[in-house]
Amino acid sequence: MDLYEYQGKDLFRRFGIPVSEGRLVDTPEGALAAADELGGGPVVVKAQVLTGGRGKAGGVKLADSPDDAEAKANDILGLDIRGHVVRKLWIEQASDIAKEYYLSITFDRGAKKPLFMFTTQGGVEIEQVAEENPDALVRLHVDPLEGFQPWVARALVYGGGVDDPSEQKQIAAIVEKLYRCFVETDAMLCEINPLIVTPDGEVKALDSKFTIDDSSLFRHPDVAEWRDTTAADPLETYAREQGVTYVKLDGDVGILGNGAGLSMSTVDVVAHVGGRPANFCDLGGGGDAEGVVKALDVITRDPQVKSIFFNIFGGITRCDEVARGILAALDRLDMSRYPIVVRLDGTNAAEGRQILADAAKSNVHPASTMLEGAREAVELAESA
Ligand code: GDP
Ligand code: MN
Repeated sequence: MDLYEYQGKDLFRRFGIPVSEGRLVDTPEGALAAADELGGGPVVVKAQVLTGGRGKAGGVKLADSPDDAEAKANDILGLDIRGHVVRKLWIEQASDIAKEYYLSITFDRGAKKPLFMFTTQGGVEIEQVAEENPDALVRLHVDPLEGFQPWVARALVYGGGVDDPSEQKQIAAIVEKLYRCFVETDAMLCEINPLIVTPDGEVKALDSKFTIDDSSLFRHPDVAEWRDTTAADPLETYAREQGVTYVKLDGDVGILGNGAGLSMSTVDVVAHVGGRPANFCDLGGGGDAEGVVKALDVITRDPQVKSIFFNIFGGITRCDEVARGILAALDRLDMSRYPIVVRLDGTNAAEGRQILADAAKSNVHPASTMLEGAREAVELAESA
């Protein structure tokens, strides 16, 4: 689960990592009131969206008065930042910036250890630093059995070339707190970019990027409650309302399987033969007309879909039932513009195939294996 900046900063604050005071608002008037409450001085108005690079996209703006905060809030609310529409703003006391550093901790799956990264070249994308100036980026693993040791913080700070003793001390303290924060919240990533030094020499976190392991959310009910369902894909939300198990992907071959395992394999096989799956969709155990209609309704609401691949392995699900479901769905929905490849195997497969053959629908293409069906669905999507 990805957290918004304001949520990540809330956790940072709980672990003693310095952050600026701020307020969450969702209207320009709210921004004005928040700026007033924060002392009436300059504030920064920040789009709360689950994507980075907000600054460059116009989603972070300085305002020198509460009135200006209202105007900037008006500009930013409703903005579309790479598909994320801004609905909430974080209004924060503006900081003067002398230096911008970068500090993060994440999982290095290869090494099976948490990995700290630190550089004094902050404020820009870390990938850019890694590419253009790799020597400026200090990487350091923490042995999880040993736990955090003070030398880790010192190695990062000295390795990064921080020479001011007060900065060294503050950053080392933040590193230690960030480690605790990472472990105790079951995080996968905690990133501070930029970690700033003010002209007075004060170090603090100006941004937060925070990901928590979904499997651990039961241990953090307060964090689990933060999940924002309005940020989910609208099609996935619609699917959930319809009781259809559906995950949107970005290709053009619509996929229906029965059972999560077979459906996932179908996604893989379509990709394996050079196609791009449009979705994952599991019909579940049923395969009755109602379930098929609902699934096809969801899948064809995605305008990218060009062909559809049914991959059914009958067990308890009977293939003749699925075949009747497909025909019923074709009667009820206008599916004429979609080529539909159907592979039926397992219980009553022969009857199912016969039912489809008898119906002689011109856009229904039978396939005898999963691989053959995937190839055909991909070709049909390409030629559509
Ligand atoms: P991101 O673009 O999504 O990473 O958003 P950030 O929170 O990192 O903000 C983008 C940039 O806005 C930062 O790198 C800063 O340069 C600038 N910024 C953010 N907050 C302040 C602030 O309080 N004062 C000043 N002067 N600049 C800020
Ligand atoms: Mn940032």
